Amino acid sequence: MHEIVEKERLNEEMTRIEVKAPLVADKIKPGQFIVIRMHEKGERIPLTFYKKDEDKGTIQMIFQKMGKSTHELDTYEEGDEILDVVGPMGTAAEIEEYGTVVCIGGGVGTPEVFPVAKALRNVGNEVIVISGFRTEDLVVCENELDKDCANELYITTDDGTYGREGFTTDVLEELIDQGTDIDLIHAVGPPIMMKVIAGITEEHDIPTRVSLNSIMLDATGMCGSCRVEIDGEMKLACVDGPEFDAHKVNFEELMERITMFEEQEEEALENWKEEHEGCCG
Ligand code: NAD
Repeated sequence: MHEIVEKERLNEEMTRIEVKAPLVADKIKPGQFIVIRMHEKGERIPLTFYKKDEDKGTIQMIFQKMGKSTHELDTYEEGDEILDVVGPMGTAAEIEEYGTVVCIGGGVGTPEVFPVAKALRNVGNEVIVISGFRTEDLVVCENELDKDCANELYITTDDGTYGREGFTTDVLEELIDQGTDIDLIHAVGPPIMMKVIAGITEEHDIPTRVSLNSIMLDATGMCGSCRVEIDGEMKLACVDGPEFDAHKVNFEELMERITMFEEQEEEALENWKEEHEGCCG
Protein backbone atom coordinates (compact mmCIF):
# COMPACT_ATOMS: atom_id res chain seq x y z
CA MET A 1 0.00 0.00 0.00
CA HIS A 2 1.20 3.48 -0.85
CA GLU A 3 0.02 6.44 1.18
CA ILE A 4 -0.83 9.74 -0.45
CA VAL A 5 1.16 12.09 1.77
CA GLU A 6 0.16 15.27 -0.04
CA LYS A 7 -2.57 16.25 -2.47
CA GLU A 8 -3.07 19.60 -4.15
CA ARG A 9 -5.80 20.43 -6.63
CA LEU A 10 -3.99 22.75 -9.04
CA ASN A 11 -7.03 23.74 -11.11
CA GLU A 12 -10.31 22.27 -12.33
CA GLU A 13 -8.52 19.63 -14.40
CA MET A 14 -5.18 18.92 -12.76
CA THR A 15 -4.14 17.52 -9.39
CA ARG A 16 -0.71 16.93 -7.88
CA ILE A 17 -0.18 13.96 -5.57
CA GLU A 18 2.85 12.96 -3.55
CA VAL A 19 2.91 9.24 -2.86
CA LYS A 20 5.05 7.09 -0.60
CA ALA A 21 6.99 4.68 -2.81
CA PRO A 22 10.60 4.50 -1.57
CA LEU A 23 11.78 1.78 -3.97
CA VAL A 24 10.49 3.71 -6.98
CA ALA A 25 11.84 7.02 -5.65
CA ASP A 26 15.24 5.42 -5.35
CA LYS A 27 15.43 4.45 -9.01
CA ILE A 28 13.13 6.56 -11.17
CA LYS A 29 14.72 8.94 -13.68
CA PRO A 30 13.43 11.86 -15.78
CA GLY A 31 11.28 10.68 -18.69
CA GLN A 32 10.13 7.48 -16.98
CA PHE A 33 6.65 6.77 -15.69
CA ILE A 34 4.82 4.62 -13.16
CA VAL A 35 1.69 2.51 -13.30
CA ILE A 36 -0.79 2.60 -10.44
CA ARG A 37 -3.75 0.47 -9.47
CA MET A 38 -5.91 2.13 -6.86
CA HIS A 39 -7.62 -0.97 -5.50
CA GLU A 40 -8.31 -4.62 -6.33
CA LYS A 41 -10.87 -3.72 -8.99
CA GLY A 42 -9.00 -0.70 -10.32
CA GLU A 43 -7.57 -0.47 -13.82
CA ARG A 44 -3.87 0.04 -14.33
CA ILE A 45 -3.12 3.62 -15.28
CA PRO A 46 0.22 5.06 -16.37
CA LEU A 47 1.22 8.37 -14.79
CA THR A 48 4.21 10.47 -15.72
CA PHE A 49 6.76 11.08 -13.01
CA TYR A 50 7.12 14.73 -12.03
CA LYS A 51 9.35 14.98 -8.92
CA LYS A 52 10.85 12.78 -6.24
CA ASP A 53 12.27 13.07 -2.75
CA GLU A 54 14.57 10.16 -2.06
CA ASP A 55 14.99 11.09 1.63
CA LYS A 56 11.22 11.02 2.19
CA GLY A 57 10.83 8.05 -0.16
CA THR A 58 8.15 9.83 -2.19
CA ILE A 59 7.33 10.52 -5.81
CA GLN A 60 5.05 13.19 -7.23
CA MET A 61 2.75 13.10 -10.22
CA ILE A 62 0.46 15.68 -11.78
CA PHE A 63 -2.53 14.10 -13.49
CA GLN A 64 -5.43 15.40 -15.52
CA LYS A 65 -8.98 14.27 -14.74
CA MET A 66 -9.88 12.59 -18.01
CA GLY A 67 -11.53 9.20 -17.69
CA LYS A 68 -13.13 7.13 -14.95
CA SER A 69 -9.91 6.17 -13.17
CA THR A 70 -8.39 9.65 -13.01
CA HIS A 71 -11.74 11.00 -11.73
CA GLU A 72 -11.67 8.31 -9.08
CA LEU A 73 -8.03 9.06 -8.19
CA ASP A 74 -9.01 12.68 -7.72
CA THR A 75 -11.40 11.62 -4.93
CA TYR A 76 -8.50 10.14 -2.94
CA GLU A 77 -7.32 12.40 -0.15
CA GLU A 78 -4.17 12.75 1.93
CA GLY A 79 -3.79 9.66 4.09
CA ASP A 80 -5.61 7.41 1.59
CA GLU A 81 -3.67 4.55 0.11
CA ILE A 82 -3.07 3.33 -3.42
CA LEU A 83 -2.81 -0.45 -3.71
CA ASP A 84 -0.02 -0.71 -6.30
CA VAL A 85 2.64 1.67 -7.53
CA VAL A 86 4.79 -0.05 -10.15
CA GLY A 87 7.90 1.49 -11.61
CA PRO A 88 10.11 2.86 -12.89
CA MET A 89 8.65 2.05 -16.30
CA GLY A 90 9.95 2.92 -19.74
CA THR A 91 13.33 4.20 -20.76
CA ALA A 92 14.80 7.30 -19.15
CA ALA A 93 15.38 10.47 -21.17
CA GLU A 94 18.90 10.73 -22.55
CA ILE A 95 20.63 13.47 -20.60
CA GLU A 96 23.82 14.77 -22.19
CA GLU A 97 25.42 18.07 -22.98
CA TYR A 98 23.96 19.02 -26.35
CA GLY A 99 24.26 22.84 -26.27
CA THR A 100 20.94 24.63 -26.56
CA VAL A 101 17.89 22.50 -25.87
CA VAL A 102 14.30 23.63 -26.26
CA CYS A 103 11.87 21.72 -24.02
CA ILE A 104 8.23 22.06 -25.00
CA GLY A 105 5.32 21.05 -22.77
CA GLY A 106 1.74 21.12 -24.00
CA GLY A 107 -0.79 21.32 -21.14
CA VAL A 108 -0.50 18.36 -18.78
CA GLY A 109 2.61 17.29 -20.75
CA THR A 110 4.41 20.10 -18.91
CA PRO A 111 5.02 18.18 -15.65
CA GLU A 112 6.90 15.52 -17.67
CA VAL A 113 9.09 18.23 -19.15
CA PHE A 114 10.04 19.54 -15.69
CA PRO A 115 12.47 16.79 -14.52
CA VAL A 116 13.91 16.39 -18.02
CA ALA A 117 14.59 20.12 -18.44
CA LYS A 118 16.07 20.29 -14.94
CA ALA A 119 18.45 17.38 -15.63
CA LEU A 120 19.43 18.85 -19.00
CA ARG A 121 20.26 22.16 -17.39
CA ASN A 122 22.19 20.48 -14.56
CA VAL A 123 24.62 18.95 -17.04
CA GLY A 124 25.32 22.33 -18.62
CA ASN A 125 22.82 22.81 -21.43
CA GLU A 126 21.25 26.18 -22.19
CA VAL A 127 17.59 25.29 -21.67
CA ILE A 128 14.71 27.18 -23.24
CA VAL A 129 11.29 26.03 -22.03
CA ILE A 130 8.05 26.70 -23.90
CA SER A 131 4.93 25.67 -22.07
CA GLY A 132 1.45 26.08 -23.52
CA PHE A 133 -2.02 25.89 -22.01
CA ARG A 134 -5.53 26.49 -23.27
CA THR A 135 -6.18 29.29 -20.77
CA GLU A 136 -4.72 31.04 -17.69
CA ASP A 137 -6.51 28.84 -15.12
CA LEU A 138 -4.73 25.75 -16.47
CA VAL A 139 -1.17 27.09 -16.17
CA VAL A 140 0.94 24.82 -13.92
CA CYS A 141 4.61 24.46 -12.93
CA GLU A 142 5.54 28.01 -13.97
CA ASN A 143 7.54 28.84 -10.82
CA GLU A 144 9.39 25.52 -10.78
CA LEU A 145 10.29 25.80 -14.46
CA ASP A 146 11.46 29.35 -13.95
CA LYS A 147 13.52 28.60 -10.85
CA ASP A 148 14.99 25.18 -11.58
CA CYS A 149 15.01 24.51 -15.31
CA ALA A 150 14.82 27.33 -17.74
CA ASN A 151 17.41 29.83 -18.86
CA GLU A 152 14.50 31.28 -20.84
CA LEU A 153 10.83 30.51 -20.19
CA TYR A 154 7.86 31.20 -22.44
CA ILE A 155 4.30 30.52 -21.31
CA THR A 156 1.58 30.57 -23.95
CA THR A 157 -2.20 30.40 -23.73
CA ASP A 158 -4.40 29.64 -26.70
CA ASP A 159 -6.81 32.42 -25.72
CA GLY A 160 -4.18 34.98 -24.69
CA THR A 161 -5.40 35.20 -21.06
CA TYR A 162 -1.83 34.67 -19.78
CA GLY A 163 1.67 34.88 -21.26
CA ARG A 164 1.82 35.01 -25.02
CA GLU A 165 -1.28 34.39 -27.07
CA GLY A 166 -1.07 31.33 -29.33
CA PHE A 167 0.39 27.83 -29.36
CA THR A 168 3.80 26.61 -28.16
CA THR A 169 4.65 26.09 -31.82
CA ASP A 170 4.26 29.84 -32.50
CA VAL A 171 7.10 30.58 -30.06
CA LEU A 172 9.20 27.78 -31.53
CA GLU A 173 8.77 29.21 -35.02
CA GLU A 174 9.72 32.66 -33.71
CA LEU A 175 12.89 31.31 -32.12
CA ILE A 176 13.84 29.55 -35.35
CA ASP A 177 13.08 32.67 -37.41
CA GLN A 178 15.26 34.73 -35.07
CA GLY A 179 18.14 32.38 -35.85
CA THR A 180 18.37 30.68 -32.43
CA ASP A 181 20.81 27.83 -32.78
CA ILE A 182 18.89 24.81 -31.41
CA ASP A 183 20.72 21.51 -30.89
CA LEU A 184 17.82 19.44 -29.57
CA ILE A 185 14.10 19.62 -28.94
CA HIS A 186 12.29 17.60 -26.29
CA ALA A 187 8.50 17.80 -26.57
CA VAL A 188 5.61 16.30 -24.61
CA GLY A 189 1.95 17.09 -25.03
CA PRO A 190 -1.03 16.43 -27.26
CA PRO A 191 -0.10 14.31 -30.29
CA ILE A 192 -1.22 17.07 -32.65
CA MET A 193 1.26 19.46 -31.01
CA MET A 194 4.08 16.93 -31.26
CA LYS A 195 3.17 16.26 -34.89
CA VAL A 196 3.27 19.97 -35.74
CA ILE A 197 6.61 20.33 -33.93
CA ALA A 198 8.03 17.35 -35.82
CA GLY A 199 6.98 18.96 -39.10
CA ILE A 200 8.63 22.27 -38.23
CA THR A 201 11.89 20.80 -36.95
CA GLU A 202 12.30 18.26 -39.75
CA GLU A 203 12.29 21.15 -42.18
CA HIS A 204 15.07 22.82 -40.18
CA ASP A 205 16.99 19.63 -39.48
CA ILE A 206 16.74 19.94 -35.68
CA PRO A 207 16.95 16.64 -33.76
CA THR A 208 13.65 16.23 -31.93
CA ARG A 209 12.37 13.70 -29.45
CA VAL A 210 8.85 13.25 -28.22
CA SER A 211 7.29 11.30 -25.36
CA LEU A 212 4.28 9.34 -26.61
CA ASN A 213 1.08 8.87 -24.67
CA SER A 214 -0.40 5.81 -26.34
CA ILE A 215 -2.95 3.63 -24.54
CA MET A 216 -1.28 1.23 -22.12
CA LEU A 217 -2.60 -1.78 -20.24
CA ASP A 218 0.14 -3.83 -18.61
CA ALA A 219 2.94 -1.41 -19.59
CA THR A 220 5.48 -4.23 -19.51
CA GLY A 221 5.54 -5.11 -23.22
CA MET A 222 3.08 -8.00 -23.07
CA CYS A 223 -0.25 -6.70 -24.35
CA GLY A 224 0.83 -4.62 -27.34
CA SER A 225 -1.89 -2.01 -26.90
CA CYS A 226 0.62 0.85 -26.84
CA ARG A 227 2.20 -0.10 -30.15
CA VAL A 228 3.38 2.74 -32.32
CA GLU A 229 4.94 2.83 -35.75
CA ILE A 230 8.46 4.21 -35.70
CA ASP A 231 10.32 4.42 -39.00
CA GLY A 232 7.96 1.79 -40.43
CA GLU A 233 8.59 -0.64 -37.57
CA MET A 234 6.28 -1.61 -34.74
CA LYS A 235 7.54 -0.46 -31.32
CA LEU A 236 5.99 -0.52 -27.87
CA ALA A 237 5.75 2.87 -26.16
CA CYS A 238 5.88 1.21 -22.73
CA VAL A 239 9.22 -0.57 -23.04
CA ASP A 240 10.88 0.82 -26.20
CA GLY A 241 9.75 4.36 -25.29
CA PRO A 242 7.96 6.47 -24.26
CA GLU A 243 10.56 8.64 -25.98
CA PHE A 244 11.15 8.40 -29.74
CA ASP A 245 12.69 10.35 -32.58
CA ALA A 246 9.84 12.67 -33.58
CA HIS A 247 10.78 12.53 -37.25
CA LYS A 248 10.18 8.78 -37.35
CA VAL A 249 6.80 8.62 -35.58
CA ASN A 250 3.65 7.80 -37.52
CA PHE A 251 1.48 10.42 -35.75
CA GLU A 252 -1.62 9.69 -37.87
CA GLU A 253 -1.69 6.13 -36.56
CA LEU A 254 -0.96 7.26 -33.00
CA MET A 255 -3.86 9.71 -33.08
CA GLU A 256 -6.20 7.11 -34.48
CA ARG A 257 -5.20 4.52 -31.89
CA ILE A 258 -5.55 6.77 -28.84
CA THR A 259 -9.15 7.59 -29.70
CA MET A 260 -10.01 3.94 -30.41
CA PHE A 261 -11.93 3.40 -27.14
CA GLU A 262 -13.38 6.90 -26.79
CA GLU A 263 -16.98 5.66 -26.71
CA GLN A 264 -16.29 3.04 -24.05
CA GLU A 265 -14.22 5.53 -22.04
CA GLU A 266 -17.09 8.05 -22.08
CA GLU A 267 -19.60 5.39 -21.07
CA ALA A 268 -17.40 4.16 -18.20
CA LEU A 269 -17.01 7.73 -16.94
CA GLU A 270 -20.75 8.44 -17.18
CA ASN A 271 -21.57 5.24 -15.28
CA TRP A 272 -19.00 6.02 -12.63
CA LYS A 273 -20.32 9.58 -12.22
CA GLU A 274 -23.87 8.26 -11.84
CA GLU A 275 -22.73 5.87 -9.13
CA HIS A 276 -20.82 8.61 -7.33
CA GLU A 277 -23.30 11.42 -7.87
CA GLY A 278 -22.33 14.65 -6.17
CA CYS A 279 -18.76 13.63 -5.46
CA CYS A 280 -17.05 15.50 -8.28
CA GLY A 281 -17.33 17.69 -11.36
P1 NAD B 1 -4.31 20.82 -24.62
O1 NAD B 1 -5.24 20.32 -25.65
O2 NAD B 1 -4.81 21.75 -23.60
O3 NAD B 1 -3.08 21.49 -25.40
C1 NAD B 1 -1.96 21.99 -24.68
C2 NAD B 1 -1.17 22.88 -25.59
O4 NAD B 1 -0.67 22.16 -26.71
C3 NAD B 1 -1.92 24.04 -26.19
O5 NAD B 1 -2.09 25.09 -25.28
C4 NAD B 1 -1.01 24.42 -27.36
O6 NAD B 1 0.07 25.22 -26.99
C5 NAD B 1 -0.50 23.04 -27.80
N1 NAD B 1 -1.30 22.62 -28.96
C6 NAD B 1 -2.54 22.08 -28.94
N2 NAD B 1 -2.98 21.90 -30.20
C7 NAD B 1 -2.01 22.35 -31.03
C8 NAD B 1 -1.88 22.44 -32.44
N3 NAD B 1 -2.84 22.05 -33.28
N4 NAD B 1 -0.73 22.96 -32.94
C9 NAD B 1 0.24 23.37 -32.12
N5 NAD B 1 0.18 23.31 -30.78
C10 NAD B 1 -0.93 22.81 -30.23
O7 NAD B 1 -3.62 19.63 -23.91
P2 NAD B 1 -4.03 18.91 -22.55
O8 NAD B 1 -5.53 18.79 -22.50
O9 NAD B 1 -3.37 19.50 -21.38
O10 NAD B 1 -3.44 17.46 -22.83
C11 NAD B 1 -2.08 17.24 -22.90
C12 NAD B 1 -1.74 16.04 -23.70
O11 NAD B 1 -0.48 15.58 -23.24
C13 NAD B 1 -2.70 14.86 -23.59
O12 NAD B 1 -2.93 14.40 -24.91
C14 NAD B 1 -1.92 13.85 -22.80
O13 NAD B 1 -2.26 12.55 -23.13
C15 NAD B 1 -0.49 14.19 -23.16
N6 NAD B 1 0.50 13.76 -22.14
C16 NAD B 1 1.56 13.03 -22.53
C17 NAD B 1 2.47 12.59 -21.58
C18 NAD B 1 3.63 11.75 -21.99
O14 NAD B 1 4.44 11.44 -21.20
N7 NAD B 1 3.74 11.35 -23.23
C19 NAD B 1 2.31 12.92 -20.25
C20 NAD B 1 1.24 13.70 -19.89
C21 NAD B 1 0.33 14.12 -20.86
